[in-house]
Amino acid sequence: MDRYVIVGNGVAGVKAAEVIRQRDPRSSITMISNEKYPFYFRPQLASYAAGKITDAQITARKEAFYQRNKIELIIGKSVTKVSPGERQVTLGDGSAFPYDALLLATGCSLQTLDFPGADKTDDIVKLMTLEDAKRLRQKMKAGKRAAVVGDGFLTTALIDALLGGGMEVVYLIPEDRFWPDVMDADASRIMEVRIQERGVEVVKNAQVKEVVVKGGVMAGLRLTDGKLVRCELAGLKGAMRPNVAFLEGNGVRVESGIVVDERMRTSVKDVYAAGDVVQLAEMPPELPLINVRWLKAWRQGQVAGANMAGDKMEYEEYACFSSTQVAGVDLVAIGVSNPPDGGYKIMRGEYPHPELDIYKKLVLKDDRVVGALLIGDVAEASEVHRAIRQGKKIDEMDETLLRQMFDLSFPLTRYQGIVCPVCKLVMSISPDMKLGDTITCPSCGIEIKITRELLARK
Ligand SMILES: Cc1cc2nc3c(=O)[nH]c(=O)nc-3n(C[C@H](O)[C@H](O)[C@H](O)COP(=O)(O)OP(=O)(O)OC[C@H]3O[C@@H](n4cnc5c(N)ncnc54)[C@H](O)[C@@H]3O)c2cc1C
Repeated sequence: MDRYVIVGNGVAGVKAAEVIRQRDPRSSITMISNEKYPFYFRPQLASYAAGKITDAQITARKEAFYQRNKIELIIGKSVTKVSPGERQVTLGDGSAFPYDALLLATGCSLQTLDFPGADKTDDIVKLMTLEDAKRLRQKMKAGKRAAVVGDGFLTTALIDALLGGGMEVVYLIPEDRFWPDVMDADASRIMEVRIQERGVEVVKNAQVKEVVVKGGVMAGLRLTDGKLVRCELAGLKGAMRPNVAFLEGNGVRVESGIVVDERMRTSVKDVYAAGDVVQLAEMPPELPLINVRWLKAWRQGQVAGANMAGDKMEYEEYACFSSTQVAGVDLVAIGVSNPPDGGYKIMRGEYPHPELDIYKKLVLKDDRVVGALLIGDVAEASEVHRAIRQGKKIDEMDETLLRQMFDLSFPLTRYQGIVCPVCKLVMSISPDMKLGDTITCPSCGIEIKITRELLARK
């Protein structure tokens, strides 16, 4: 009988535990998390902070799940040391847990940049954990003003939460466009308009110089051009950092994240890692070393769990896949979705269209599809992802798929997909689905009813 220990109770850790239990009904599984809650849907934090969903609704696995799967769950405790020589992990309270196979699935934390003045106020907010969301609930007061700096879905999640809490929001975009890593200027414009339509004031090229605090109360953010953006709460730009401090000096190789091979093995025998904390040893050059994505963490947890239980499964990273909802709009970015100038061709049919909030494009290099961006309608996302994975050339792509993507008079028939509102996974919908049918998200397990609105995309 083996002893499996999993550090981290997020999607990567939980998926691994499920997979281990399926393959090994008898061994012991211990999961340790320094958060105080059972596994919850992290991408739902904005809805939770805004009071739109309850504790029960954000909880992804209730206590019964851990009992049924005979998983010992230790919450609210940090692992402070991993000792591969003794094959054990030690918690902050000194207790130790021996392992035969260990998974490190500790995710990332947001480290906000060190703006002068930020340490003088308690009104800097963020939204990475359930604890952050609970704190944000306390802090939000309808009618007050918040400033949010940054880009990407973590920033827009914070904006959603603040709007949901009845606050006025000013969004300070540091660059000349929203989310420049994945968006070109046209795509960004569509998103900016959608964000503004929700009542958010958008300021571009806004570089924050300092947080201005007067008499212990936040007065606002001072920009480098001297302007003061008045606010009572602020969400600041930050960088994602892997949670690896407890690994220092124990031989587990850490660079931008914990380095793993295609079977999610670290440099130390019987120690595996998965999810946001991981950096793959072999990375396609266009990919960011660390990328924070639910689907990726879920798949890596699956591969790690299978290998820990004695299988041989490989994880393949073929193109960074971001699926999310920004300002209520489905959005998928795959691979090189906003290439640097030169060497790439862009295919975008009739987009951007003056009357549609939909945008689709493919990015080609030497006629091979290497990236895509789909906004407002992600029907073809899974199929395009598959084509990129297979390294298809544009003339090898299914003609119906291309017509459906780029010819606006062509009906959405064969390929259909939506973003799961809970975990943001992209799901394919079968073309023969009818009103009232349900589909189950393979990642988070929630059931989604096919509504008139979804069918209207056909
Ligand atoms: C607000 C928000 C919105 C998001 N929206 C999207 C989205 O739209 N689409 C998308 O793809 N992704 C989204 N994500 C990202 C997605 O949630 C993450 O990619 C995913 O949760 C990563 O899972 P994980 O298991 O790797 O790590 P986590 O979910 O971060 O879990 C790691 C756990 O390990 C614990 N831990 C860390 N160190 C220790 C230690 N020393 N001892 C014990 N426990 C420890 C942590 O506290 C945490 O509970 C969003 C994230 C946030 C915060």
